[in-house]
Amino acid sequence: MTADIDKGAVSVLQPPLGVNRAARKRLSSTAGVLVREAVPLASATTLRIGGPAEVFVRVDSEAALSEVMTVARECRVSLHLHGHGSNVLFPDAGVRGIVCRLRGELERVELEGETVRAGAGVTLARLARDTAKQGLLGLEALSGFPSTVGGAVVMNAGCYGTEMRDVLTEVRVGRPGRPVEAVRFDLLEPGYRTTSLQGTDAVVTGAEFRLRRGDGAAALARIDELNRCRWQSLPSGKPNAGSVFRNPDDDFAGRLIEACGLKGLRRGGAEISGRHANVIVNREQARAADVLDLMVAAHRAVRDRFGVELRPEIVLAGGLAEEFWGRVRAG
Ligand SMILES: Cc1cc2nc3c(=O)[nH]c(=O)nc-3n(C[C@H](O)[C@H](O)[C@H](O)COP(=O)(O)OP(=O)(O)OC[C@H]3O[C@@H](n4cnc5c(N)ncnc54)[C@H](O)[C@@H]3O)c2cc1C
Repeated sequence: MTADIDKGAVSVLQPPLGVNRAARKRLSSTAGVLVREAVPLASATTLRIGGPAEVFVRVDSEAALSEVMTVARECRVSLHLHGHGSNVLFPDAGVRGIVCRLRGELERVELEGETVRAGAGVTLARLARDTAKQGLLGLEALSGFPSTVGGAVVMNAGCYGTEMRDVLTEVRVGRPGRPVEAVRFDLLEPGYRTTSLQGTDAVVTGAEFRLRRGDGAAALARIDELNRCRWQSLPSGKPNAGSVFRNPDDDFAGRLIEACGLKGLRRGGAEISGRHANVIVNREQARAADVLDLMVAAHRAVRDRFGVELRPEIVLAGGLAEEFWGRVRAG
């Protein structure tokens, strides 16, 4: 585990110990765990950037996940939970340790009255549509970005005035050496794109939502309408990870970066979007180093001109958070 340099910008990938033979053997012989080696993370992120994961596991149940967590702890290797990869920047050199994706039983959805229980591997867009079809409302505004339930819980993701905390009651959380437990979401200190789960070794395996009964057809129409508006305001076509920085109090990171004249700034294959200055797009074979250069340039420019210290919203994994803060603090 890394030092908590900045919640939400710290990866759980440190220290970078490798996965030894014994650990690989234990993982491969665990029921419900599928092990692959040297999987390019670029193919698993919306930015399309990132070198190989030393070991990439697909985990199908809470029991299988517990064993993966135990192996990681006992063999002292890092474990990174991977959702849809829509809010993460991985290094070009890849990451040592285990990258874990939740599938199988962890993609199940159960309805009971107005209560919806979803595995952490379910995509929010699918959940919003499926619940709307059942006349259950509340997730429409959260359906327009690429996210798993687990990733959205950890980020307390939100859009159009609705955040995860508005619809969640409980989440299921696994921690090394402890059984998975249900925790009230408000006890996890949800704030603006933050929860106390960030920068820890906790894993979200599922979530319970409290929705309300209403007109399902109208909810589906609203989902389509919100998504149309959304795609008009975001850079289309080029890979990206949504907002790079959190908005500072009473302002917008995009406005500040734009006011510094940085729209369209390029480093290698990456560019600060000409459409939305708080989004960096991968124009052509961008590297993580290119994205980090642009983030540092934007951070310095906004600090020098406005005295505002922007904080990354995107998760800088595998040592990139330390590199980012090291560079911005160096001046
Ligand atoms: C086009 C676009 C638009 C976006 N718009 C928005 C928006 O409007 N609002 C918004 O809030 N975000 C937005 N985002 C950012 C992103 O979609 C959200 O932050 C999303 O919730 C991340 O979910 P994920 O499954 O992709 O997580 P990942 O990016 O895979 O992971 C994000 C973090 O969560 C951790 N994590 C993931 N799953 C788990 C788990 N099960 N247990 C523990 N930790 C886990 C990861 O380790 C990582 O630290 C946008 C992104 C894109 C590309």
